Amino acid sequence: MSIDEAQNSERQERMTAERAYELFWAELLDAGATFACVGTGCTAPLICACLDKPEQTLRVRPYFRSRRIEDHAETCEVLHGTRSGTRKPETPTPDVFELERPADHFRASPQPGTPSVQTAREAPATKKSSGLRTGASHYYRLSSVVQKFLEHRRDGTLAEATVAIGGETPTYEALFRNVYRQKVEDITGVRAIWWGTAYVQRLKKENGYFIRFTRAFRTGEQETKPTITLGEKLIEVYPVRKLLRARLDKLIAETGGYCVVFVWAKPWTPAESEASFVRFYVNNPDHIDIRGPEVLEELKQTSRIARAR
Ligand SMILES: [Zn+2]
Repeated sequence: MSIDEAQNSERQERMTAERAYELFWAELLDAGATFACVGTGCTAPLICACLDKPEQTLRVRPYFRSRRIEDHAETCEVLHGTRSGTRKPETPTPDVFELERPADHFRASPQPGTPSVQTAREAPATKKSSGLRTGASHYYRLSSVVQKFLEHRRDGTLAEATVAIGGETPTYEALFRNVYRQKVEDITGVRAIWWGTAYVQRLKKENGYFIRFTRAFRTGEQETKPTITLGEKLIEVYPVRKLLRARLDKLIAETGGYCVVFVWAKPWTPAESEASFVRFYVNNPDHIDIRGPEVLEELKQTSRIARAR
């Protein structure tokens, strides 16, 4: 059983598994961190699965689980609520992708006024911030949105599920666009989650990365493969840089840099230039997700877009 939220004792904070994962990679949470169920009267110890795994796939993702079902209290609605089928709300609410994190998102210790372990446990788990899945979540890393995209693709709900992003609330289906022979004239300035296969390599002159998609946009007669540069300065101020570097270095070592890139951006081309090129400018590494080629298998298995090709 997968549980979304837990009480962490070290930080005295109630958090989602996503947040636990980010805090671990921001080096603000230990691999041995301890978590407990947030159900009424329940203190069942929980484990955060996949906490230290840099890669993410449909199966490999952070979530909480209990060691033993019997650990949960009789009164625990996190356990019993899911059993009686109250997991899914009647009207699904859109997920929310926040383009900027709150300023104190990676604070090192709990804020004054943060509810104590006890009061947090007493809060009814039926509220939005509970251990129960309400269907809607706030995300700060594009990777979390990509994960939802893969799940909706698997479940056949891409056309219904929505996500609030950049002032709009598109469906997951409309939001994700493949980099593949689209005319640059048609898509310049179209902000979307662009994705496709790519190669990532280290920059020669600094400790950053360069990404080139394997597929091209069309500009007139030419085909242009879009590129992304992740410079050292950009990475060094990013709180979850350890995760970003671990993922990219793993890909470079294991696949020669072959990867699948998802990026929230608009394609950019120079207005007047002899040389045609297309770039995605990324000013926040939270807006890019880079995965191993195994995600292609998941996409193939779940996608009608891939089948139609
Ligand atoms: Zn419980």
